[in-house]
Amino acid sequence: MSELVIKNLHVSIEDKEILKGLDLTVRQGEIHAIMGPNGTGKSTLAYTLMGHPSYTVTEGEVWFKGQNVLEMEPDERSRLGLFLAFQYPVAIPGVTVANFLRTALNARRRAVNPEDKGIPIPEFRKALKERMELLKMESSFAGRYLNDGFSGGEKKRAEILQMATLKPEIAILDETDSGLDIDALRIVSEGVNALSGPGLGVLVITHYQRLLNYIKPHFVHIMLDGRIVESGGPDLALHLEEHGYDWVREKYENGVSA
Ligand code: ADP
Ligand code: MG
Repeated sequence: MSELVIKNLHVSIEDKEILKGLDLTVRQGEIHAIMGPNGTGKSTLAYTLMGHPSYTVTEGEVWFKGQNVLEMEPDERSRLGLFLAFQYPVAIPGVTVANFLRTALNARRRAVNPEDKGIPIPEFRKALKERMELLKMESSFAGRYLNDGFSGGEKKRAEILQMATLKPEIAILDETDSGLDIDALRIVSEGVNALSGPGLGVLVITHYQRLLNYIKPHFVHIMLDGRIVESGGPDLALHLEEHGYDWVREKYENGVSA
């Protein structure tokens, strides 16, 4: 079983420390949610995991399937089975959703075997159709230009379809803090629920408590000031919904000063 293990992770952006010793393990088959107020470093964690060059790891370790993730390029991480949904997907006019997905899939295959001729088109079409049915997407969506004029919900749909196509072992979904409407929230949740199972581990990062009305995580973590300060089951999310973050802040600040 694949495991993503994060140990004592410290990350800085332009010499400012954002992550201050974060520990977390996500296994295949588990759904984890990280929640926390704006500015606590949630997106920093997501970008660091995928190897964004602006984020400097100053201390700590990240292991996936026994390999040192921090020494890998982003595409190697992806090939190994990590998936990061883009917070701000770019539009590619002229390239359809279907072509984009086929290109991504073929790049993955060629990385494994340089002789690979690519997935035969009929096979790809059949698989894509099945995935889109599973995700309850209209077939015409595959023929649209990627992210070109897409609504927030449609961008999320493209992202989830990409995840369904690449079949990662661990997916990290960072919910954008602005413009995430209820429609997009529902699409992400339904996609995660449809794709989740023993082969997929999911880390959903959000500051929207209501996301958890749709996704049922096995584990909920609260992040504050660059660390996970509280972990629990789904009941922790309910508690947050009712009481907000103030009690965590108080507990954490008292704990720190004691
Ligand atoms: P969250 O996703 O929890 O809202 P972020 O990881 O986006 O938090 O940001 C954490 C902190 O890092 C914030 O204080 C933010 O202002 C700062 N930060 C994020 N990106 C940059 C950047 N590119 N340059 C400088 N500071 C940044
Ligand atoms: Mg964020």
